[in-house]
Amino acid sequence: MMIESIHFIYNQYIQEKRMTTVRSFHPPQRTLLGPGPSDVPPRVLEAMSRPTLGHLDPAFVTMMDELKGLLRYAFQTDYSLAMPISGPGSAGMEAAFVNLLEPGEKVIICQNGVFGGRMKENAERCGAVPVMVQDEWGKPADPHKVEAALKANPDAKVVAVVQAETSTGALSDVRTIAGIAHKYECLIIVDSVTALGGSPLKVSEWQLDAVYSGSQKCLSCTPGLSPITFSPRAVEKVKSRKHKVQSWFLDFNLVLGYWDGGAQRSYHHTAPINALYGLHEALVMLQEEVLENAWQRHRKNHLALRAGVEAMGLAFVVEEAYRLPQLNAITIPPGVQDAVVRQRLLNDYSIEIGAGLGAMAGKIWRIGLMGHASNRKNVLLLLGALDAILTDMKAPIYSGVAIEAAMQIYNS
Ligand SMILES: *Cc1c(COP(=O)(O)O)cnc(C)c1O
Repeated sequence: MMIESIHFIYNQYIQEKRMTTVRSFHPPQRTLLGPGPSDVPPRVLEAMSRPTLGHLDPAFVTMMDELKGLLRYAFQTDYSLAMPISGPGSAGMEAAFVNLLEPGEKVIICQNGVFGGRMKENAERCGAVPVMVQDEWGKPADPHKVEAALKANPDAKVVAVVQAETSTGALSDVRTIAGIAHKYECLIIVDSVTALGGSPLKVSEWQLDAVYSGSQKCLSCTPGLSPITFSPRAVEKVKSRKHKVQSWFLDFNLVLGYWDGGAQRSYHHTAPINALYGLHEALVMLQEEVLENAWQRHRKNHLALRAGVEAMGLAFVVEEAYRLPQLNAITIPPGVQDAVVRQRLLNDYSIEIGAGLGAMAGKIWRIGLMGHASNRKNVLLLLGALDAILTDMKAPIYSGVAIEAAMQIYNS
């Protein structure tokens, strides 16, 4: 009896043990055609698997300096401050706001989608005073409204705008808006998270003051890093602040001691060493392709996708003149259940596309053709899959014509 109960307890222990023995994680192979992350090329993943170095190792420091040069190329900037923040695009956004805004300062924020709303959140948390300039979702930020807001708020210090609004697929003219901001002696913050590497962006020529991006969109690196660049004017403002930056981690007065420290480079936080190898490799690949060619490739694949989508009878959300090639927002045909289609794409084709956000949830799909994922194979795969699924669901589309329409673009 006694022995039996010991056996029972022992067996239970073994069983619990088995249940908690977790094995290695092997993710399925997907094709990532959503709003980010995008597919990471094997070269980048391989670079990340190289030996970890100490964050002050001279070999690593050499890599950091190269990385800054590669980022200047991607941003088209000659500003000395160009580095990756150790955190995702949201950390880049936060870094721009906490460093450039002092408590009580006014900031004009353009909102035409989700991310302008997040800028407002950031500004408020810095103790700054946001003045919102609203445009309809799917439309670009209107430079005239920005100018009107600056006239009405002569004490504003900063203007902030999202170049590529990933929630809707609209491109805003940040060059024009920067010109207006400077006319009123304001600095300009630009969110180029989805733009960098996919759409023309010329930071120095356009005189943008603070521009941040993300590693996982058109750069096709893994998520978790945020390239950022500040103009000398912006750096000057950070250095002459009256109040300490509210975030210790993102305070450039401290972070630059590591990234810009020269011989006196000192510890601030442990850099994400292997992730930075990945970003270095992704930027080397961009340099090999040549930036302008990458913009062109994004455009070509967008045009092919568009031909296929429109041949099916589906419509784009954004007007042609402001459409992002890397983020295609498409209206879901009437009677079609959004989630069912996305689930079938994932289960049957291993393709991920994005759902609509906020007011656009259930009404649109967001098809990303970002970075490495912007290629002919993916465009044709997605069009074929969508055609098959929607035809099977008896959705009101033209069947069997999408791929041929896309091929006409590739063959032209
Ligand atoms: C993705 C995105 C962000 C946020 O980036 P995370 O890496 O997800 O933090 C910010 N702005 C825009 C426009 C984005 O598309």
